[in-house]
Amino acid sequence: AAAGKDSAEPLLERRRRLLGSGLELSYERPLHLLRGDGVWLWDADGRRYLDAYNNVPHVGHAHPHVVEAIARQSALLNTNTRYLHESVLDYAERLCALMPAGLDVCAFVNCGSEANDIAWRIAKAHTHGTGALVMENAYHGGTEAVAALSPYDMPASAVAPHVRTLEAPDLYRGRFRKDHPAAAQGYAGDAGRAIASLAAAGHKPAAAMIDTAFISSGMLDVPKGYLRTVAETVRAAGGLFIADEVQYGFGRSGTHFWGFDFHGALPDIVTMGKPVGNGHPLGVIVTRREILKSFTDRTDYFSTFGGNPVSASAGLAVLDVLEREGLQENARRTGAYFRQGVEALMARHPAIGDVRGTGLVMGVELVRDRKTQEPAPDWTRRVANLMREQGVLIGTEGPRRNLLKIRPPLCFRPEHADLAIEALDRALAAL
Ligand code: PMP
Repeated sequence: AAAGKDSAEPLLERRRRLLGSGLELSYERPLHLLRGDGVWLWDADGRRYLDAYNNVPHVGHAHPHVVEAIARQSALLNTNTRYLHESVLDYAERLCALMPAGLDVCAFVNCGSEANDIAWRIAKAHTHGTGALVMENAYHGGTEAVAALSPYDMPASAVAPHVRTLEAPDLYRGRFRKDHPAAAQGYAGDAGRAIASLAAAGHKPAAAMIDTAFISSGMLDVPKGYLRTVAETVRAAGGLFIADEVQYGFGRSGTHFWGFDFHGALPDIVTMGKPVGNGHPLGVIVTRREILKSFTDRTDYFSTFGGNPVSASAGLAVLDVLEREGLQENARRTGAYFRQGVEALMARHPAIGDVRGTGLVMGVELVRDRKTQEPAPDWTRRVANLMREQGVLIGTEGPRRNLLKIRPPLCFRPEHADLAIEALDRALAAL
């Protein structure tokens, strides 16, 4: 442990000097990682960590097929989409084939924020609306426009005049709890209220933008039918439904390739980031032809890096691996096994108030008291740090910062889940 600290100190000093002190690091003892392979990471001291947190290396850290695709295309050519090239077309074809009928044109960008930013511009151009509906505590990215659509960490007074936040469909803490027969309709009704409130302020809705994994709103298990009803309500008012698949896309739910499908909701625009390129910066927008046309008729939109042959090759390689290795099915099987194992810990650890998630995404809510549900953010931080010391990486999340965030690469197997469950058990026992 002492060696780790010594080797970190000079880097910490340089980091503060060169990057400023505002960029937060994970863990009390920051990690200095040098190598990754599958679900494993190695630090500067050669210590191995099980990665139960990172969703960007979707098919595994440094997957050889993705690495090879990027290297091969980099050695041959990388340029922009103002020239003809097969790779971007091959990739668009593969992505559209995975979409519901009618969602058949793509625009390529470089990250999730940019995908959402352009999706928002497209929605405004197509609908002539100006208003937005977003989830309570949503996060959609860092550009000025999408930061305004990201009420995470924002006081209610700071929410922009064109934005309305939807009551989170939280079955653990919200107005309608688990097994309430009218929970979906009860929560979805808030969309009507939000649209009326926008209208009163002179805004027609352009879109509802929703993270289909509901991560920053509390990694919610939302009631069946909720998202479909919200999407239909917004469409009936002339707006579009933008499904932000940055978190749940590409098979993470296990049962469905897309989060919107998991919820049975049909989107007008789909945005992707993070896992798309397995770490290579890549963002995608997929929509209907006439919707994209409304936007491109008004602007000669172009992204210098978006859809370049190297990025397209990375994206194609990720789809290859997902298919060849059956990773969606693995997410379903391992996810169910993992969740069961964590739920079994509830009998021994009263600090676990709730366990949520389907597939390889799991939120574990820690509380001081199951009856009062008093959140325990300090315990949550402590558990993440204790697990890191045991060599298992997870994160923390949620509006109350009392959720353990578990969201590993999709090549995470039951034997890895066993290691994570043991580490969680020990960390909770040490509280
Ligand atoms: N949407 C969601 C749901 C996200 O979780 C994030 C990133 N955490 C983004 C968008 C923004 O993606 P990026 O950081 O790649 O811009």
